[in-house]
Amino acid sequence: MKYYNFEVRSSTREELINITSEISELIKKSGVSNGKVTIFVPHTTAAVTINENADPSVPRDIIFGLKKLIPHFPGFTHLEGNSDAHLKSSIIGCTQDVFIENGRLILGTWQGIFFCEFDGPRHRRVIVGINE
Ligand code: ZN
Repeated sequence: MKYYNFEVRSSTREELINITSEISELIKKSGVSNGKVTIFVPHTTAAVTINENADPSVPRDIIFGLKKLIPHFPGFTHLEGNSDAHLKSSIIGCTQDVFIENGRLILGTWQGIFFCEFDGPRHRRVIVGINE
């Protein structure tokens, strides 16, 4: 397993940031042509997901829908005041696996890999493991 990491800078409290090209670059750098990449987000108020890459309204609607499902409201007891972000992180999850074939990610036509910020703006880290 080869490990890499890179920084993501979010600019608002909640946003999806497309990191597909960063992952593809790391696969090239690794020299692995057939295998699997694991993308791991080491944060409790962020996540990683795979979803539509073509229409930018989809990532916006995912954030909009999550805000509706889990409002940023003061009823939570966690003193940091960001329990909604912790819930969103747990629901979406902090890891994704994608297969690699001929040095390329095997993704559906419309799919992209998104870093999910739920408590920004912050500097975040993404850890990437690549297996032959
Ligand atoms: Zn917290």
